[in-house]
Amino acid sequence: MHHNFKLGNYTGTVLNDFARRRTLKASFPRLDEAELLKEIELGGYDLTLDTEMELHGNVLLIDTGEQKIMIDAGLPPAGGQLLQRLEGAGLAPSDIDMVLVTHGDGDHIGGLANYTNAKIVMPTNSYKLWTEDTAGMIEEFIKLFRGVVPDGELENMAAGRAKYAEVIQNLGDRVVLVEMGEEVAPGIKFQAAAGHRRDHTAVIIESNGETLMHVADAFRHPLQLKRHDFYGLFDSYPEQLAETMANLLAQAAETNALVFGAHFEFPALIRIGKEDGAYKWIV
Ligand SMILES: [Zn+2]
Repeated sequence: MHHNFKLGNYTGTVLNDFARRRTLKASFPRLDEAELLKEIELGGYDLTLDTEMELHGNVLLIDTGEQKIMIDAGLPPAGGQLLQRLEGAGLAPSDIDMVLVTHGDGDHIGGLANYTNAKIVMPTNSYKLWTEDTAGMIEEFIKLFRGVVPDGELENMAAGRAKYAEVIQNLGDRVVLVEMGEEVAPGIKFQAAAGHRRDHTAVIIESNGETLMHVADAFRHPLQLKRHDFYGLFDSYPEQLAETMANLLAQAAETNALVFGAHFEFPALIRIGKEDGAYKWIV
């Protein structure tokens, strides 16, 4: 499954890496159930705590005409469908010129090693997090999710983080470090969006008057448009996340941006409207 679209002079392609299902309750395991049910009722959603939600993993590719730029690299090769999707779109991994990293989770950097011709572009702060005190970063991650994620899964996630730290440390001169707001290609820049992780970023893409906001994992469910305090299973810092959601949503509504979410339902492109002071999720 891939989906092509136009953004100004650029061509975008959404590649579906994986599709899973998880109940609403399991998606928001640390929230008060009564609060969740109240918001479901107030919003008139056709949902119960046991409703199975689609959890997709999507990767965005932008062709500027000059460069093919992927934002995130998907799951490790055996984990997802990204390479097949790329092939379906008529491309090989060696065609990719640049991979931007929104944050260092396995479903976003697991496939980094496939893009052997690509520069790997990361914000300096993120690179520091993954190269300076890796053990401390992993220890903190375990502490945050102990008791939330089953022990076996948590051990796997921690081991995955150690492996990715090694991958990042071994990228050598393929790594390009940039600052927030600095253009990595014409009209393309990282924007700070911490909360899901400390190093989590959004990416803004502008071409010929059109804007796309790649929100990565900052939010993924319409309930969060009103309740920025509704944080998900894998979100690390809820207060920071709420602030990030508020900023991104306001900006998306104001700029009428096309909004891409890594875990929205494929093709993962929406707009955020505003009506009577409330945000709307427009598919
Ligand atoms: Zn993710």
